[in-house]
Amino acid sequence: MDSSSDMRFPLRLHVLGSGSKGNAAIIENTLAGQGVLVDCGLCKRDFLARCDEAGFDPAALTAILITHEHTDHTKGLGVVLRGLAKSGARPLLLASPAVRDAGMPLGEALQQGLCDFAPFAAGDILQLAGMDIRVFATSHDAAASFGFRFQCGADAVGYMTDTGVATDGARSALAGVRVLALEANHDRTMLEAGEYPYHLKLRIASDCGHLSNDQAAEILEALAHEGLQTVVAMHVSQNNNTYRLPREVLEGALRRSGCAAVVKVAYQDRLVSV
Ligand SMILES: [Zn+2]
Ligand SMILES: [Zn+2]
Repeated sequence: MDSSSDMRFPLRLHVLGSGSKGNAAIIENTLAGQGVLVDCGLCKRDFLARCDEAGFDPAALTAILITHEHTDHTKGLGVVLRGLAKSGARPLLLASPAVRDAGMPLGEALQQGLCDFAPFAAGDILQLAGMDIRVFATSHDAAASFGFRFQCGADAVGYMTDTGVATDGARSALAGVRVLALEANHDRTMLEAGEYPYHLKLRIASDCGHLSNDQAAEILEALAHEGLQTVVAMHVSQNNNTYRLPREVLEGALRRSGCAAVVKVAYQDRLVSV
């Protein structure tokens, strides 16, 4: 069944790019004909090319949500906003005040008047593009960091990357979603045996780092339910993981839960739309 043509399921997720070299994803509400961009860590050319490939008109973006200030999530903000302005779009930029103050690309975009700003905090429900968006805290070595649940009627998409653990707030916000974008950053053994300096290995594996494949599987097993249709493995490391491993490990978790959802893997340089 093509869920995009099913009116019960109006939400679509377009992962434009995911990984340590740059992150951006669009949650599209096909009922409203609008969408929200999560993070802006791609260059303008890649951003526009993948929007085009996704069949999404970037002028329909009403807001940009920033998870945290790390440059792989923010470095394209200025160029993308300037590009959007040419097509008459001026999305609202939303972030935590701590993230706004810590992130150079955010500060510059606001100083240059490229967009208006609205703050959010964990626990907020934002109303954007015809969706209710629930903000929850993640656990990451940033000034502050967040994930989101996008809800439209009975349809819901969960989004969580760049976190060392799943917080209680995250687990409750992500319950019952139809589509789950979930970080599966590294294979623990590959990280331990790999070339990264010791302090970086510790940082990645810490409670304020990134989720391993096995951690993602544990979270998925707890969240799996009958209505879960698609899981997208996010922020997959090109050094400490393969694109095959997260799929296998997450499929194993779904099998153990008796859940028939499909696992996809998001790529650094390729669009994944669900
Ligand atoms: Zn990141
Ligand atoms: Zn990060």
